[in-house]
Amino acid sequence: MSLARIRIVLVEPQHPGNIGAVARAMKNMGLSSLVLVAPRAFPADEAIARAAGADDILACAQVVGSVAEAVAPCVQVLATSARLRKIPWPVADPEQAAHSLWAHAAAGQEVALLFGAERSGLANEDVDFAQGLVQIPVDPAFASLNLAAAVQVLCYEIRKQSLGPRPAVPDHEPAPQEELNGFLAHLEAVLIEIGFLNAAHPRKLMRRLVRLFRRATPDQNEIHILRGILTAVQTGRPPQNT
Ligand code: SAH
Repeated sequence: MSLARIRIVLVEPQHPGNIGAVARAMKNMGLSSLVLVAPRAFPADEAIARAAGADDILACAQVVGSVAEAVAPCVQVLATSARLRKIPWPVADPEQAAHSLWAHAAAGQEVALLFGAERSGLANEDVDFAQGLVQIPVDPAFASLNLAAAVQVLCYEIRKQSLGPRPAVPDHEPAPQEELNGFLAHLEAVLIEIGFLNAAHPRKLMRRLVRLFRRATPDQNEIHILRGILTAVQTGRPPQNT
């Protein structure tokens, strides 16, 4: 079932009631894959109560310790945000985001939508795991929606896509995040080794590079080539032709 390939990731949700309301919002729209990153309280009776019958989604919810783990197998990750960020990320509206997520899911690929905590939203460190932002075009004078209401809007747009004509297969399959993140860690290590990056303050430059490579959505072959280049830099030898 393609809708099951679209995971809803809640990063450090504070209120178990909202987790239940999110499960309900998802189930209404046919989504089933819920991932919780370090929830404050879960499992919880209040979550089950607010799920109002969607407790099967809570029972199957995956609890993980980091955003990286939550999105490891995903080829596309989009972060929802009420605010625009200082570093300019590509911003989609819910319909555009749903269109793209659905095209990947219908082609058999895993994708994720990130949602932030009730009080503070997503930290920039969380957004670093995404290829772009999704913003619901609310009244800017009162821009922040309740967490479950935001999930509802996105899931509704995804449902509409799933009821429409079958989307074209995306023209390329990006590498899963775990491979891209492996490459980015390797890149950071090499840049430190060659003195290009100050190990004490790697973040600013690395964030720009992370954004560049996420935007580029390299596929697995491209990741292998890039890692081959890094290994050649480290060993001082050209890659062996195999
Ligand atoms: N106070 C926080 C918002 C938290 S609302 C802030 O100012 O950033 C909880 C989550 O709901 C957000 O992290 C985001 O994932 C989602 N959300 C709320 N309003 C949204 C909007 N207008 N567009 C997209 N996502 C939104």
